[in-house]
Amino acid sequence: MNLNINYCSYCGADQLAEEIPAGDNMPRIVCSQCGSIHYQNPKIVAGCLVTWQDQVLLCRRAIEPRYGLWTMPAGFMENNESIEEAACRETFEEAQARVTLDGLYGFYSIPRISHVYVLFRGHLDKQEFGPGSESLEVKLFSEADIPWNDLAFNAVRVTLRHYFNDRKRGEFPLHLQTL
Ligand SMILES: [Zn+2]
Repeated sequence: MNLNINYCSYCGADQLAEEIPAGDNMPRIVCSQCGSIHYQNPKIVAGCLVTWQDQVLLCRRAIEPRYGLWTMPAGFMENNESIEEAACRETFEEAQARVTLDGLYGFYSIPRISHVYVLFRGHLDKQEFGPGSESLEVKLFSEADIPWNDLAFNAVRVTLRHYFNDRKRGEFPLHLQTL
């Protein structure tokens, strides 16, 4: 576990320590001043494999990590939104695109970095898109033109592989995987 917080968010003390609280079985970050336990849990990444006719929409990242590489619109879910809202919001923020979701498609646990990816298939409502502030450019790609060597994340590569295989069979089952 990373002790990546410096102050107790309950009392403001800077006396945080890693210990196993009574009745627990995992080390937690505990405030030595007020006893509050700062749980750290996986983050949910929501995103969308956006299609338009036989093409898929990818964004070239304008931010680290993986600056300049291609990805699907995806990002951390916010409090007080549904997972579908998160996927559509990220798609609009990164690709300036309005989509209709076609179904849940990729559900990946990535234990190494404590992320959970929840990816939908979705199609553009209109052929309108463009780079949001986190993207250098946004483009539609045919299968033959996918920049396989310049993809930002393994989850993107895995999802695109599934998509082109599934499309040949005409079925798009949910892919539940640990990456
Ligand atoms: Zn405290």
